[in-house]
Amino acid sequence: MTKPNPLDYVRPNILALEPYSTARDEFKGGDIEVWVDANESPYPSGLNRYPDPHQKKLKEAIARLKGVREENIFIGGAGSDEAIDLVYRIFCRPGVDNVISIAPTYGVYQVSADINDIEFRKVALDEAYNLDVDKLLAAADENSKLIWLCSPNNPTGNAFAPEDIIRVVEKFNGIVVVDEAYIDYSPYPSLLNVLDDYPNLIIMQTFSKAWGMASLRMGMAFAAPGIAELFARVKYPYNVNGPTQEELLRRIETTDIAPNVRETLSERRRLAEALAGMPAVVEVKPSDANFLLVRVTDADALYDALIADGVIVRNRNRVRGCEGCLRITVGTPVENDRVISIVKKFQTEE
Ligand SMILES: *Cc1c(COP(=O)(O)O)cnc(C)c1O
Repeated sequence: MTKPNPLDYVRPNILALEPYSTARDEFKGGDIEVWVDANESPYPSGLNRYPDPHQKKLKEAIARLKGVREENIFIGGAGSDEAIDLVYRIFCRPGVDNVISIAPTYGVYQVSADINDIEFRKVALDEAYNLDVDKLLAAADENSKLIWLCSPNNPTGNAFAPEDIIRVVEKFNGIVVVDEAYIDYSPYPSLLNVLDDYPNLIIMQTFSKAWGMASLRMGMAFAAPGIAELFARVKYPYNVNGPTQEELLRRIETTDIAPNVRETLSERRRLAEALAGMPAVVEVKPSDANFLLVRVTDADALYDALIADGVIVRNRNRVRGCEGCLRITVGTPVENDRVISIVKKFQTEE
């Protein structure tokens, strides 16, 4: 079976795009001592020079960290949200094309589709939040450009079997985006291992979760070089500021995320076991991420009780497929104890 070249799915105006060329794009190296090419202030402030628009050093570090090539990498300075929006702008013709997504899932995929005037088709996960590959593929027509998969999925918490995801990638004549924001907590390995085998696969990751840098707003997309190059063309020229590039580089080289991830995994289990025994709790959904989706007897009331005691969780009661559910991030052991004691107390007061 031969599949179309993924570049065939790209919007014609993007394929034809002549990207903006910055002063620093035109600079091809040399022993420069006087920089008068970019209309910057010459007075040193620590911030007076434009940053590297291609984030070369950062890409070298991320390539080493992730075991990919620099040509596979896009880095976004507005988190994964930037990569999500760019995917629409690269592949989807407003008012014409559509995308397919699992449901329930991360809300930004739909908001970004709506902003870009792209039809968003939802295919419900089954009762146990499993992927129905055939149903997903059956939702596609000739204008379906993308399928969104999030694994481990937010807000359900479960990861999909890699074989199922690969089956979607192999069968779908379009781009499959797999959001791996929670991959560091998953029992399954990242699909980065097979990135080279699937030219229509885009994988997204972030530094916001296990890396503990949500405030920096650093997201990544990994794809075949031809697609990664399109991200580079369409992005804002200086989309990652200089201090952020330096800070992230420093932290990649000095941080070991393993101890905190280990604690989160053992706390996830402890929190799940404690909650599962409580009368206010109907069911704790299995989680492969750093949060638990918990079905309770009265989600709104428990949500309010938690807030009254200084704890905020995410109320998913009004999300289709998550009725009666709260999403609780695994915190520190002390924080989890606090959640446990409030949920316990809530029940005894009813
Ligand atoms: C938290 C999260 C992200 C990360 O978003 P950033 O914009 O990188 O902070 C991406 N995808 C999903 C599904 C998430 O839950």
